[in-house]
Amino acid sequence: MTFEELKARDHQYVMQTYGRFDVAIDHGEGSTLYGLEGQEYTDFASGIGVASLGYGHPAWVKAVTEQASKLAHTSNLFYTEPYVNLAEKLCTRTGMASVFFANGGGEANEGIIKLARKYSYDKYGMGRSTIITLHNSFHGRTITTLQATGQDVFHQYFFPFTEGFRYAEANDLESVKAQAGDDVCAVFLELIQGEGGVLPMDQQFVQDLAAYCAENDYLLLVDEVQTGVGRTGSLFCFQQYGILPDACTFAKGIAGGLPMAGVICNEKCRNVLSPGTHATTFGGNPIAANAACTVLDVLDDDMMQTINEKGAYLRESIAAFDSEYVDCVRGMGLMVGIVLKDGVDRSTLVKKCYEQNLLVLTAGPKTIRLLPPLVITKEEMDKGLAVLKNVLA
Ligand SMILES: *Cc1c(COP(=O)(O)O)cnc(C)c1O
Repeated sequence: MTFEELKARDHQYVMQTYGRFDVAIDHGEGSTLYGLEGQEYTDFASGIGVASLGYGHPAWVKAVTEQASKLAHTSNLFYTEPYVNLAEKLCTRTGMASVFFANGGGEANEGIIKLARKYSYDKYGMGRSTIITLHNSFHGRTITTLQATGQDVFHQYFFPFTEGFRYAEANDLESVKAQAGDDVCAVFLELIQGEGGVLPMDQQFVQDLAAYCAENDYLLLVDEVQTGVGRTGSLFCFQQYGILPDACTFAKGIAGGLPMAGVICNEKCRNVLSPGTHATTFGGNPIAANAACTVLDVLDDDMMQTINEKGAYLRESIAAFDSEYVDCVRGMGLMVGIVLKDGVDRSTLVKKCYEQNLLVLTAGPKTIRLLPPLVITKEEMDKGLAVLKNVLA
């Protein structure tokens, strides 16, 4: 099948909700993807931060295929080993207490919102259900998580949205305090706003916010859907901020390419979502859970070190291009934002990357976002950097 035939069939039979690039992927190996017609792409996107171990990682393939032939699914009416193994790994490596498994980021965020509201309801009764989120955040595409997202463009068409969200400025504790009140149960934020433009929160803001939340018994909730699972150079990004949130969500990279997500909470919140209050058919699916166990095993301390080194190498190399288009390069670990100067035509630059077989992402109004597989090699990075250098020249 040619690319044009595939594209025509997509347009015929698939809802046109995505602005796809003119690229069809057939298979991958390491951090390189191959197109339908044999094109070879360097992958600085990993899906959108999902293929944490790249493509065809032997241990991951073994975990998936062995579990697929053993048991693909059973219901959450029964115990299975893989999700218990995974929950134990997540808790012991974070100091958190307990996990709920879901299937995607938006769904995990729905779960954390339910957890916050029920925590408060159990303790204080009705009327304390508002959650403060940040301007420029992104929390998902469900009716509730659209409203949790602090960007007006997401608050269209689908009325009525779920009530109970107010928005504060990032990196501004006074702005959070101005939105606080007796009706508030939680503050929910990304430590690096991903879709918003790879914008890291200040250490001091996050620590002060954690103290302020603790004083007021507002739950501190972190959306680690994009920043989690090694992406920023620690298993979860909050571990580099010197805080332990009451709960956080994870998704994207957790199972290395299979749909999986979840909420992980501390001791205080472990019994909030009690029997019958929350559930999902596929949550903790054995294949996804076994794959995720392998992802966590690969992401050991040595691996975190290499993620930090590779991220620094990318950021420093791009900064050294000294491009007239680039305002700054920011991010942590292998979550990299190339912020372009005002007025630079980003879509043309991105198009040139694709024409030269480099897959990149965008974020916010003027950022090129790089989320390469965490296993990317120096050779693969250098291939991508050569394209970026050319395009940004
Ligand atoms: C991608 C993302 C989501 C949504 O996850 P889905 O799996 O697409 O539902 C939520 N929050 C953040 C921070 C994300 O990056």
